[in-house]
Amino acid sequence: MPPGGPGAAPYDEERGSPYDEELGVDERTQVLVAGGGPAGATAATLLARQGFDVTLLERDRFPRYHIGESLLPSLLPVLDVMGAREAVERHGFTRKTGAFYGWSGQEWQLRFDTSDRPAAYSFQVIRSEFDHLLLEHARAQGVRVREETQVRRVGFDGYRTTSATWTSRYGRAGQTHFRCLVDASGRAGVLAARQLRTRRFHDVFRNVAAWGYCAAPRPCRTHRRARSASSPCPSTDESGPSPSTTAPSASAW
Ligand SMILES: Cc1cc2nc3c(=O)[nH]c(=O)nc-3n(C[C@H](O)[C@H](O)[C@H](O)COP(=O)(O)OP(=O)(O)OC[C@H]3O[C@@H](n4cnc5c(N)ncnc54)[C@H](O)[C@@H]3O)c2cc1C
Repeated sequence: MPPGGPGAAPYDEERGSPYDEELGVDERTQVLVAGGGPAGATAATLLARQGFDVTLLERDRFPRYHIGESLLPSLLPVLDVMGAREAVERHGFTRKTGAFYGWSGQEWQLRFDTSDRPAAYSFQVIRSEFDHLLLEHARAQGVRVREETQVRRVGFDGYRTTSATWTSRYGRAGQTHFRCLVDASGRAGVLAARQLRTRRFHDVFRNVAAWGYCAAPRPCRTHRRARSASSPCPSTDESGPSPSTTAPSASAW
């Protein structure tokens, strides 16, 4: 497995960055997006499709590992307005039709095919592939995407953000001037967590998550119940409701 985790691109010292040469050391853009995860790629795509000049700086090189594989039906209308639905469907991620919980002795089922939901299914994705696909889609929509380029500091003119300094993995440094900034740097929080220190954690979500992946030799009881609850003749592929269950000190799905 590559050092960045499952799905991460192996780092190739010799190859260098394919994007390094493109970097202007003092450039201008209408909108600067910091971070190329789903939030950054989505914002950049939507703005580019509206005719804005958008530059996106992403610290890593994609594909890179990321947690967060299980997606909800509300994703699908967003993919539609981004024009990315077809590419995501074509990729062949596992379709998820709901969820089934074997939770501390209780069992309950959540179905996505009800009239109050925006779609009857969603996807269980490999995030490295999903995020890469969205970032490439943003590039195809005209977004100037620079990977392996980390935003270091945001400059202000009074209360207004006006520029960002960055460094590339290969030692270059520069500054990009913009009219609007989208900080989509996730947990890193370029502005809120690092620079302004205004990030506040919601009391309910003051949790710590330790996670891992395991390969089960055969479906567990909750998995079998989920499959049979979804259909009297469960399909043989992996699509269906995602099963979740508890263990004494953890949960698994
Ligand atoms: C244990 C766990 C389980 C989860 N499970 C799920 C799940 O099942 N389903 C689900 O929908 N969500 C899940 N999530 C949440 C999900 O991971 C996040 O909501 C999602 O990744 C947020 O996307 P984002 O684009 O905002 O941030 P990210 O995907 O984190 O993207 C931020 C990007 O910004 C880049 N970046 C950071 N700093 C800089 C910088 N200075 N300059 C340039 N780029 C920078 C990073 O490299 C990264 O690519 C889970 C989270 C955790 C912790």
